[in-house]
Amino acid sequence: MSLALRLLGTSASRPTVERNVSSIAVVREGETMLFDCGEGTQRQMMRYGVSFALRDIFFTHFHADHLIGIIGLLRTMALQGRTEPLRLWGPRGATRTVKRAEEFGMDRLSFPLEVTELEPDQRVNRGDYDIALFPADHRGARAVGYALVEHDRKGRFNPDLARELGIPEGPLWGEIHRGRSVTLADGRVIEPSVLVGPARPGRRIVITGDTRPSAATVEAARGADLLVHEATFGDEEAERAVETGHSTAREAATVARSAGVGTLLLTHFSARYSRDAADLGREAREVFAATVVGKDGLEIEVPYRV
Ligand SMILES: [Zn+2]
Ligand SMILES: [Zn+2]
Repeated sequence: MSLALRLLGTSASRPTVERNVSSIAVVREGETMLFDCGEGTQRQMMRYGVSFALRDIFFTHFHADHLIGIIGLLRTMALQGRTEPLRLWGPRGATRTVKRAEEFGMDRLSFPLEVTELEPDQRVNRGDYDIALFPADHRGARAVGYALVEHDRKGRFNPDLARELGIPEGPLWGEIHRGRSVTLADGRVIEPSVLVGPARPGRRIVITGDTRPSAATVEAARGADLLVHEATFGDEEAERAVETGHSTAREAATVARSAGVGTLLLTHFSARYSRDAADLGREAREVFAATVVGKDGLEIEVPYRV
C-alpha cells in the first residue's frame, strides 16, 4: 500500500518566483487528496503530475493563501466535464466560504460539490484509515490541522508453521489470519495466536496548516512517521511569529522532538527565505536532526516501519 506526500506550494502569504502558496497532495494507493488549495494550485498539480480525479480537498483554514486556488480548480474540473462529486472539508465557515468561491468561478458546475464542516476534534473514518482533526493556534482564526491515521494491519501469517502443523493451504489460512480459531478435520483446534503475529501499526502523517507551536500538535503527531509543520520565520523573527500566529523553524523542530516523529518537513516560508531557506533548516536541525526543508514539488514517500 503506497503512501506519499507532495508539496505543491511552500510559500507563506503570496507566491514568489521560486515557490507557490500552500497546497499539499497526499496520494495513498491511487487515491489523491489535497490539503489546502492556494492560488495556482492547479498548475502545480499539472507540473508535478497530481491527478485531477481527486475526490477530497481538506482546508486547514480560510486565509486566502490556502483557499483561492479552488476557484480556478473548480472551473477547470467543470471544463473537463467532471461529473463525480468533489468533497470539500474544513472548519466551521466552510460552507459559506466555498459557496462564494463557487459563485465567483463558475456559471454552473457540472458536478456536485459536497461541503462538510468539521469540529476541531472530529475524526472522519475513511475505511482503513481516519482523518483526525486537531485545533491549530493561528491568531484566533478557525484553523485546524489534520492527521491521516492508518488503522493497524493484521499481524503476519506464518505459512511455514501452518504447513508444518498440517493445515491445508486455502480458506482455513484466511480464517486464521482474520483472527478466528479453526477446527481441523482431525479435531485439533488452532488458535490464531499460534500462526499470526501481533497487529502491525499503520502509518501516520500530520499536517499542521498555519499555527503557533502547540500541545495539540504534539499530541496529534506523537509517533507520527511524517510531520509537516509550518515554519514561516527564522530565529531573528521569533517575535513576529508570535504576533502573526505562526511558528519559527526552531519551534517546529521542538514540536517534532516532543512528539518523537520520524521526519519533520518544513513548509510555508516567508518570502525572505524563498530563494534560500538553508538558515531555517540549520536552526531546526539544532533541535531535531531529521528535518527536511520543503520545496515545491518535493515528494516524500512514507513506508511502513514494520
Ligand atoms: Zn498561510
Ligand atoms: Zn493563515
